[in-house]
Amino acid sequence: MNGKPIIKSTVKPSFPAKMDLSVGKGVNTRLQAIASNPAQTLQLVKPSSNPLTKPVPRAPAVPTGLGMDSSTFRARMVSKLASHGITDTRVLNAMQTTHRHSFVDTALANQAYEDTSLPIGWGQTISKPNVVARMIELLFEGKTGNLGRVLEIGTGCGYQAAVLSHIAHEVYSIERVAGLYEKARENFRPFRIKNTHLLFGDGMLGFPKGAPYTGIIAAAGGDAIPQAWIDQLAMGGRIVAPVTNKVAGEQSLVVVDKTEAGLKRTVLELVQFVPLKSGVI
Ligand code: SAH
Repeated sequence: MNGKPIIKSTVKPSFPAKMDLSVGKGVNTRLQAIASNPAQTLQLVKPSSNPLTKPVPRAPAVPTGLGMDSSTFRARMVSKLASHGITDTRVLNAMQTTHRHSFVDTALANQAYEDTSLPIGWGQTISKPNVVARMIELLFEGKTGNLGRVLEIGTGCGYQAAVLSHIAHEVYSIERVAGLYEKARENFRPFRIKNTHLLFGDGMLGFPKGAPYTGIIAAAGGDAIPQAWIDQLAMGGRIVAPVTNKVAGEQSLVVVDKTEAGLKRTVLELVQFVPLKSGVI
């Protein structure tokens, strides 16, 4: 991978514009950050306290279409991921553990372990398992030990955030569509995901309160990587995001590494993600 430096260094600005953050400490506090500008409104939500691996009795049952044991379907999916070149066992284990079928509509649950993107409402889609695994593998490439805090832009149905919760120390995930933010909260409810904060807001602004992040991962693609993400990235950290080249009209996966020598940008394969949009709806 030949990366070319694009920016020498970054100075952390006083970003974002003032927010009235009534924020408590720790993940068990319900937090609300209300800005005067609704586009900058963020809510940090108390994670639910039920097991991800062991749904409580009220959790959605494994849909009929999946047969008796959804773990068999996940095992097949994981072996396909491995045969497509995913080698990081942390990623493969997280994909094996996370119930993708619980994050899509019941009518689509029997397709949950196929390598396909699926509609999640509001014109958005959950990414293919292959793409989720590839991006998370890139995010943690070369990193060991405490994997620190990760910021995800585009919670959608919450699936990727749930996968990340098994690998990162702490996850902040932002969604700009209120209905999807609520849906992700609902999807999280039956599972014990203690280290993940779901936020409602404009992810283009990042979430400075949780910074610096070891990794920032975007599930929606804009024309450029927002400066806020670069500012909120820790030294040695990495951004993995789809970026659209307006001239070519193509979207590629881009990796940005923040190093002492500056930013290293690497353009990888072509991808197809929903657009990164500003503001909230
Ligand atoms: N990771 C998600 C994929 C959702 S698709 C999953 O596992 O389901 C991408 C999401 O990005 C959409 O829900 C879209 O609303 C959201 N999005 C787009 N622009 C955004 C922004 N500026 N801030 C936060 N979310 C954004």
